[in-house]
Amino acid sequence: MYKDNSFHILAKPAGPLCNLDCKYCFYTEKEALFPKNTTFQMTDAVLEMYIKKYIASQKTLEIVFAWQGGEPTLMGLDFFKKVVSLQDKYANGKKIANTFQTNGTLLNDEWCEFFASNKFLVGLSLDGPEHIHDAYRVDCGGKPTFNQVMKGLSLLKKHGVEFNILACVTKQASYKPLEIYNFFKEQDIQFIQFIPIVEREANKSTLELALRHATPPSLYKEESQKVVTSWTVEPAAYGSFLIEVFDEWIQKDIGLVYIMNFEWALAAWMGIPSPVCIFSEECGRAVAMEHNGDVYACDHYVYPEYQLGNIATDNLENMINSQFQLDFGKKKEHTLPNVCKNCEVRFACHGECPKHRFLLSDEGEPGLNYLCTSYKNYFKHISPYMKIMKRLLQEGLPVSLVTSIIKRQRVSEV
Ligand code: SF4
Ligand code: SF4
Repeated sequence: MYKDNSFHILAKPAGPLCNLDCKYCFYTEKEALFPKNTTFQMTDAVLEMYIKKYIASQKTLEIVFAWQGGEPTLMGLDFFKKVVSLQDKYANGKKIANTFQTNGTLLNDEWCEFFASNKFLVGLSLDGPEHIHDAYRVDCGGKPTFNQVMKGLSLLKKHGVEFNILACVTKQASYKPLEIYNFFKEQDIQFIQFIPIVEREANKSTLELALRHATPPSLYKEESQKVVTSWTVEPAAYGSFLIEVFDEWIQKDIGLVYIMNFEWALAAWMGIPSPVCIFSEECGRAVAMEHNGDVYACDHYVYPEYQLGNIATDNLENMINSQFQLDFGKKKEHTLPNVCKNCEVRFACHGECPKHRFLLSDEGEPGLNYLCTSYKNYFKHISPYMKIMKRLLQEGLPVSLVTSIIKRQRVSEV
């Protein structure tokens, strides 16, 4: 599957530290996995090792560094100035790109000037209008953050920073698809990605690790805890949310607004490998690296038993190509229940992320994705449009013609 041997690292220079306390966050609780006196600051030595080894290990001409957290702005701007100068030092003729995921509350003119002049692609977490965003995205004192994030958004725009919006779809947000989508349009936002929130209440191993949320279903054995948190989107509601946004977008905004979820779907209909791991056949090529250089199988699997090694002491390629990590990646496909194997939209869904596979199928098989109903409905709904868009692309025509073609088809069917 991964013939070019490429892989991707999500680096967390401030570890799970964040200046906010978003109620649904699955990562800040990871502080509990580190010793009590940890400062959660990537040292210069780890940073340099990482940049040097990551560039040297990649066969591609362009290398993408992804900075995430926790909240990476907590490292301060000087840290990222060091990042850029080390990337220059070790680039060896390769093109370097940076992506940076932030809650936006600490952005100022200096940060945004830096992002613009170094061409960072910034992902800004914004869930929608004030009452939706502030329902969960609060600071450590429980205060709302919407106004600070909107200030960050206007600074990104002012400095011409390339950015996209990451919007989490909670149970409550899922009831308001058009309100959220229209809010983003009013803000002239062109690039949007929706992320479903699915978390389970603590299970036995969570408690052993002093965490709050359930550990992911083991890829080796059944995980029976199925009680989800109160903010988890309902099994069919995420699909209905995407369908409503899709119907609005296809009528009015195709070619003007880019919704990553629809772009990924189009990739599936075009028969090209998914740009995201969740809809790929296998996973295992997108690892996470903590502030101290510890490398884990994936951002969703930062748990002691999924640690592959450390950037300082272990060879990066050996970690990625280790039997453990290859098995981890392959199990995404090998553990699919029969209902997925025989599913008409398997080519687009591939059972989504194993973290969400904690239901039993109607036949009693473990490993069915909690969002299965959503994905089945959503992919089936968009299928006629996707087929036409594929044809248009193959003929070198703009995909935006899909709307008029569908209208004509409907008229002729009447
Ligand atoms: S476990 Fe989920 S998030 Fe991690 S690589 Fe696999 S599909 Fe992606
Ligand atoms: S839609 Fe459901 S049955 Fe089909 S591949 Fe996805 S999770 Fe499996």
